[in-house]
Amino acid sequence: MKVYPARRTCRGCGATLAHVGMVYAGMYCSYYCAGVEAPNFDDVMSLPRGCRRRVGDDRWLPKRRWPSKAIARSAARHGEDAYYCDHCLTWHVGTSWRKQRVADVGDASNVMGETA
Ligand SMILES: [Zn+2]
Ligand SMILES: [Zn+2]
Repeated sequence: MKVYPARRTCRGCGATLAHVGMVYAGMYCSYYCAGVEAPNFDDVMSLPRGCRRRVGDDRWLPKRRWPSKAIARSAARHGEDAYYCDHCLTWHVGTSWRKQRVADVGDASNVMGETA
């Protein structure tokens, strides 16, 4: 299955993807065409951790959304990478929280190993 930017048109309605500004799941021009409800970006805390970023001490904003992995990667700084977000169907840039989560999972599995 071709994904944007190799893919030129929305799989749902046929709109030209380059003209719509954002691409969802690499194939659709809108959440409607992707067949999902749009995430509530106004209610930031309803977004999963990987979909929002902390600004200052306790302020959060939705993460910047990118239409393809290559475009997200071109925006990544040193030590960051692009990852697909299955909540908002776009790509985000970041790393630290993911490494943290992997570490957490590692700890949890150790604990489970001891109790099993
Ligand atoms: Zn469409
Ligand atoms: Zn997201």
